[in-house]
Amino acid sequence: MNIAFHLDADGVCTLTFDRAGSSANVFDRATLQELAAHLDTLETQHGLKGLVLATAKPKIFIAGADLKEFVRAPDADALAEIVDLGHSIFTRLSRLPVPSVAAIHGVCLGGGCELALACDWRIASTDKATKLGLPETQLGIVPAWGGSVRLPALIGLPAALGLILTGRQLVGAQARKLGLVDDLAHPEYLAAAARRLLTRGKRPPAPRALASRAPLKYLVAAKARRDVLAKTRGHYPAPLKAVAVCTAALGRSLETGFALEKAAFMELVDTPECRNLLQLFFLQERAKKLSIPAADPAATPPAPAIVDQTAVVGAGVMGAGIAQWLSARGLPVKLKDVSPEALARGLHGIELIYREAVKRRVFTATEGVAGMDRIIPVVGDVPLATADLVIEAAVEKLDAKQAIFRQLETAVRPDTILATNTSALSIDAIADGLGHPERVLGIHFFNPVHRMQLVELVHGPRTSPAALATALQFTKAVGKLPVIVKDSPGFLVNRILMPYMIEAVRMFREDGGAAGIDRLMLDFGMPMGPLRLADEVGLDVALHVANDLKRRLPHATPLDDTLETMVGRGWLGKKSGRGFYLHSNGGAHPRPNPEAGPLRAKRREQADAEVRRDRLVLIMINEAARCLAEGVVESPEDVDFAMILGTGWAPFRGGPLRHADALGLDAVVQRLDRLARDVAPHFSPCEHLRAMAGAGSLFYPNTTPVRP
Ligand code: NAD
Repeated sequence: MNIAFHLDADGVCTLTFDRAGSSANVFDRATLQELAAHLDTLETQHGLKGLVLATAKPKIFIAGADLKEFVRAPDADALAEIVDLGHSIFTRLSRLPVPSVAAIHGVCLGGGCELALACDWRIASTDKATKLGLPETQLGIVPAWGGSVRLPALIGLPAALGLILTGRQLVGAQARKLGLVDDLAHPEYLAAAARRLLTRGKRPPAPRALASRAPLKYLVAAKARRDVLAKTRGHYPAPLKAVAVCTAALGRSLETGFALEKAAFMELVDTPECRNLLQLFFLQERAKKLSIPAADPAATPPAPAIVDQTAVVGAGVMGAGIAQWLSARGLPVKLKDVSPEALARGLHGIELIYREAVKRRVFTATEGVAGMDRIIPVVGDVPLATADLVIEAAVEKLDAKQAIFRQLETAVRPDTILATNTSALSIDAIADGLGHPERVLGIHFFNPVHRMQLVELVHGPRTSPAALATALQFTKAVGKLPVIVKDSPGFLVNRILMPYMIEAVRMFREDGGAAGIDRLMLDFGMPMGPLRLADEVGLDVALHVANDLKRRLPHATPLDDTLETMVGRGWLGKKSGRGFYLHSNGGAHPRPNPEAGPLRAKRREQADAEVRRDRLVLIMINEAARCLAEGVVESPEDVDFAMILGTGWAPFRGGPLRHADALGLDAVVQRLDRLARDVAPHFSPCEHLRAMAGAGSLFYPNTTPVRP
């Protein structure tokens, strides 16, 4: 049983969603049918005064449709039937003769939000766990249980498109401002407040706003289309379809609207973009439940220790970002730096993040202040005996980190986990000389910490399974998505990203056109071109990592002196205002640096765009295959997941290895061989890739398409 039925003496019925054996409520066929059975009862119930929909789960109202059911649907007819079922049941709910109200506490997304939209009234709890949204376009589909029809009718076309095209999730206060919910209540008073809403009766039909009527609605739609195309370069069909469906459905009958959203859904669900985006969703779910790989499956896995108290060493960009994130998750953090000025700068940066979050209503002002209060600034060596976990984020120098870890060992408890946020240094080398190297590991956050979900958990040869288990549990508990990586040069993400950036620098040296090189990759679907990315990372940092990889990897991409020359001139990228681009205006569209152009060597004729793109894309595929062969991570899924989450790697293509499968490994090897012959020997395909192509295998041999 997934829905509890309770009819009060005053005629108010409460249906409480409480999926058996799960912490989440989702809509699968069984739950829909159960809801239909309750509606059978309610439609003939004498004395019924109203209906309240509620949840028994602490953090989830209804998380959405059960996507696994979509993926498993044997054919198009089965999928169409699920869509029809949702339409008909939600419409029966909306047509009950008595008023209905959704008392929303916790996550209310996708199908859950569409259910709420079918009610007369919606009230949301003020709890932070309460989030409303229609994220379907992010999965390559459109809301197809009435969301594309009911949301624009409720809040107007511009606001509805703002939600549907971005998949944005709103906390209660934001949802109320948009008119998506009618009222807010503290979780304790939610049920009572929901009952009060019932006294308003059935919702009267709302007049359609001007922007939702022709001809204005067509202007709104045209602008939304233009914005989508500018942002996605046409790679994502779902948002475009959503604009078309939402616009066309406005002012038409429900049935016509439903037919439009169903047709769009059925068309989209068959696209490779949808398949790749759904896979990405499943990989994110997998990361949330990740456990450490057991060397011996029969052995009891180590129990993770509880992390209640933390310390962060280094209050620079990353240390401050990490401290903010942890404090926002309720953890006390001692933030330590050797420099009081750096500490003050770090605290100021943290305050800015909180202020922005308060402005966006993610936190209340009081919560922002409480978050700041959980950070205790420290200068100098103080005892850290209360810390369960210390994360070091000081300068990227091995001897400096070794000295910090030696000092840390004297300041913490014997069971404190010691982690480093190093981008590329060896975890094992950092642990050298320590009494307890088994408690040292990498917890590698990405920049900016409050935006990037990925964390690489790097285990050295001496890291204990217990330390890794604790770090894994901690990473999941603070809401980041982990990938487990072996201690190796550049770990996973930087290892694959660096050859790509270096190759872009080599191409720049050949033709001097930063914007053209970056455009190639923007057109491919990257969120940012490689040279702009190098400017963001910092050219000094990029040079440091590139040199480190060159020293430690036998096949590293050869590095010319471009970066060294630029760093020598003080051009460090964004932080110094000048790199491949000029960042002086601080804007989103920096101009190419005119003084960098003359660095080009004019060695090579411009090759065609396909060859140039191959140089950038295939070099990553080759490196990714090497990482797999060397066991840096366990599976192709790890690679693709980490590259998409850590770098924004064209999500609709499914990651470098899924993209390699789509190109055909034989073709990848042939094209790499051609580049090795025509451009430079470092493109030579690695043995693993060659062997796979020779055997006719794939990285994902058992991929289940969304629809066979
Ligand atoms: P940063 O230069 O901004 O900050 C480093 C801070 O460490 C400075 O405030 C410095 O005063 C402080 N510090 C130096 N020695 C110290 C000591 N002995 N004890 C305490 N504090 C000390 O550097 P960052 O960009 O924040 O990078 C920090 C670490 O995170 C590095 O290992 C870096 O490789 C890694 N990292 C950086 C990024 C990034 O994009 N910046 C991303 C991932 C990982």
